[in-house]
Amino acid sequence: MNLDKSISYINGVGPKIQEKMEKLGIYSVRNLIYFWPRTWQDFSKYRPIAGLRLDDEVILKVKIKSVEEKRSHKKWMSIIEAILVDEHEMEIKAIWFNQTFLKNVLKVGDEWLMLGKVGWDFKAKAKTFTPTQMEKEPIIVPIYHETTGVTSKFIRKIIRPILMQNDLLEDYLPDEILKKEDLARLIDAVRQIHFPKNNETLRYAKKRLAFDELFLISLRFLTIKKELQQNVAPEMSTDENLLKDFVGKLPFKLTDAQRKTAWEIIKDLTRTIPMNRLLEGDVGSGKTVVAAMAAIVAIKSGYQVVWLAPTEILANQHFQNVTKILAPYNTRIGLLTGANKKADLINDNLIIGTHALIQKNVEIPNLGLIIIDEQHRFGVAQRAHLRKQKSDIVPHLLSMTATPIPRTLALALYGDLDISIINQMPEGRQKIETRIVEPEDRDKAYDFIENEIAKGRQAFVICPLIEEKESEIEKDVFESERKSVVKEFKKLQEQIFPKLKIGLMHGKLKSNEKAEVMEKFKNKEIDILVSTAVVEVGIDISNATVMMIEDADRFGLAQLHQFRGRVGRGADQAYCFLFSASQSAKTKERLEAMVDCFDGFELAQKDLELRGAGEIVGLAQSGLEDLKMASLTDTVMLADVRRVAEEIVEQGLEKYPLLAEKLKEFEVERHLE
Ligand code: ADP
Ligand code: MG
Repeated sequence: MNLDKSISYINGVGPKIQEKMEKLGIYSVRNLIYFWPRTWQDFSKYRPIAGLRLDDEVILKVKIKSVEEKRSHKKWMSIIEAILVDEHEMEIKAIWFNQTFLKNVLKVGDEWLMLGKVGWDFKAKAKTFTPTQMEKEPIIVPIYHETTGVTSKFIRKIIRPILMQNDLLEDYLPDEILKKEDLARLIDAVRQIHFPKNNETLRYAKKRLAFDELFLISLRFLTIKKELQQNVAPEMSTDENLLKDFVGKLPFKLTDAQRKTAWEIIKDLTRTIPMNRLLEGDVGSGKTVVAAMAAIVAIKSGYQVVWLAPTEILANQHFQNVTKILAPYNTRIGLLTGANKKADLINDNLIIGTHALIQKNVEIPNLGLIIIDEQHRFGVAQRAHLRKQKSDIVPHLLSMTATPIPRTLALALYGDLDISIINQMPEGRQKIETRIVEPEDRDKAYDFIENEIAKGRQAFVICPLIEEKESEIEKDVFESERKSVVKEFKKLQEQIFPKLKIGLMHGKLKSNEKAEVMEKFKNKEIDILVSTAVVEVGIDISNATVMMIEDADRFGLAQLHQFRGRVGRGADQAYCFLFSASQSAKTKERLEAMVDCFDGFELAQKDLELRGAGEIVGLAQSGLEDLKMASLTDTVMLADVRRVAEEIVEQGLEKYPLLAEKLKEFEVERHLE
C-alpha cells in the first residue's frame, strides 16, 4: 500500500470527513498511522460504583440486572435503561439514548466492562451512568484528539484494517540495533500503539517511538556536524609564552574549569577542521576571559575575529571589557552596532557587534574565528549564514550560553556542536540572599532597598508583561512591556522613592538611549533601574546589590537565575527579592527552588521537570519542540540515542539507505532542510 495516498482512498472517508481529518493534520495514510493516541483507556482498571462522583469518567465492571426500553415525552426519542450491578452488589442506572439496537445486545445476566460518564437524576435523586463504550475483554483502547465527526471510535475503525496489512512499513533501523537496544520493530510498535495487547506491549511500543523521535534529531545534527568537518578551517598556532603571559596579566587566577575549557578550544583552533563548539557556564563563571584567550590566539595567528552579542548593551560592555583584557597586545578592536559603526572591517583584528552584523551581510576578508555570546538566540540558519561569508575556508565558531543545561540535554538540543562546560565558579563568590516576598511585606522590601541605596548601593527592578495586555502581546511585545514598565517606573518615582533617581529601560528605547541609561546606571547617576527583560544577559554593574523581580512566576527559573546573576558581582552582600501574585502550589514550589539553589544547571533541570520542555530556550529551532512520545527528562534515553546515532554516522549513513531516506523525509516534514 502506498502510504502517501490521500486519506480519501480509505473506506468511510468522504469529502466532509476528509476536511475534518485534515484539520487534525491527517492528509495521507501515513499521517493516519502516525497519528498517535493522546491517551489510552485501560479496561482492566475498573472502579466500584460506591464512591463515584458526578462527572467522573470511569470504567465499571457490571452485570446487567434488568433492561427496559422507554419513550421520552418528546415521543421520537428512544431511551434504554438498564440496572447495572457491580461485584459489591452496588447498583446504578445506565441510560442510552436513541440506540434501539442495544435491546438485543444487553442481555440480563451478562457481564460487561463499560466506559462512561457519571450523571445525576434529579427526580430519582440518584446517580446515573451514560456508557460510551462497552467491552467484554479488559482491553486497552486508544483515545485520540477528536473533532466533531471524527471520534476515537471512528479513527480506530479506519486504522485497524490498514494496520492488518503485511509489508506496511519497512523498518529503517537495522536489526542489530533493535536487538542491542531492546527496541520493538517499527510495525509492531505502530500496531501496539494503536491497539495494545497489554500495558507491557504498550510500554515497549512507546519506547521504540520515543527512541525514533530523538534519534532522527540526533542523526540530523550529527550529519550536519560531519558535513561541516569536511570543510577546511584556518590552522592557527598556539604560542605557549603568549598564553602564559596572558594568564599572568589577568587580575585573578583562572579556575581549573576555565583552564580546561580554554585548552579544549585552543586545541580545536590548531586543527584544520572547523571548530563548532558550545561553551556552557553559569552566569559569572567567567566565559568572557576564556573566549578572549581564543581571540588572542586567532589574532596572533594572523586572523580576524568577530564577536557577536545579542544586544547592543552587551556588545558595548564586551567592547569595554575585552579592550581592557587585550590592551597589552596591540590589537585593533572595532565596535559595530546599530548606533555605532566605528569598525574597520579590513584592518581591525577584532570586531565586536550585534546580530545586525550577520544580517547586513558584511564581508570580513580574513575571518578566522566567530565568537557568539548567548548562543541560544542564534539559530542554525543564522550560524550557517555567517559561515558562508568566506568561499573555501570556513572560520572556527565558538558559541557561549549562560543558560546552562545538562550535557545530555545540550547534546540533544545543540547536537551539531561539541560542548565544553565551565562547571565551577571563581573562588569567593558570594551567595545572593534570595527571598520570596509576600504581598504584605512589600513595604519592608522597599525600606530595605532605600537603606541599601543610602549605603551607596544600587538596585534593579524587573517587570514582565502585565496580564491585561495579553491580547496586545501578539501585536507588539515591546509596546506592552513598555506600558507595564512605565507604570511601575511612575509608581516608584512618584509614590515610593520620590527622593531617589529612578531610571527606565525597555525594548522600545532607541539603542543610543539604552546605552545612555546603562552609562548613567554605571556612573551611579541612577539609583534604581526599572527594566524589562532586556537587561537579562550579561550586564555587569558591580555596585548593584538588590535585584527585585515583579511577577517572578512569569519567568523560567533559568531566566530568574540570569537576573539574579546581575547582582552580587562586587564585594558587598547582594539580595534577590521575588514577588508573585500567584498563590498556586506549583508556582510556590518553583520559586522556592530559587531560594535554595544557586546552580544554574540544577535550576534548568528543575525547570524542565516542573514546566516541561517548552520553556527551554533554543528548542524552537532544534526540531525538539513537538516531541510526542519522548521526554527530554529521560537522560538515559537521550544518552543511548546519542551513542547509537554516533555509531551510525561513524560508519556512514550511506550504509543505511532506508535510514537516510527516512531522515530526508523527517527534514521535509519539519521544514528543517
Ligand atoms: P559570564 O560567564 O557570565 O560571561 P564573565 O565572563 O562576565 O561571566 O565574568 C564575570 C566576572 O568574573 C567578570 O567581572 C570577570 O572579570 C570575573 N572573573 C572571571 N574569571 C574569574 C576568576 N577566575 N576569578 C575571579 N574573577 C573572575
Ligand atoms: Mg557573559
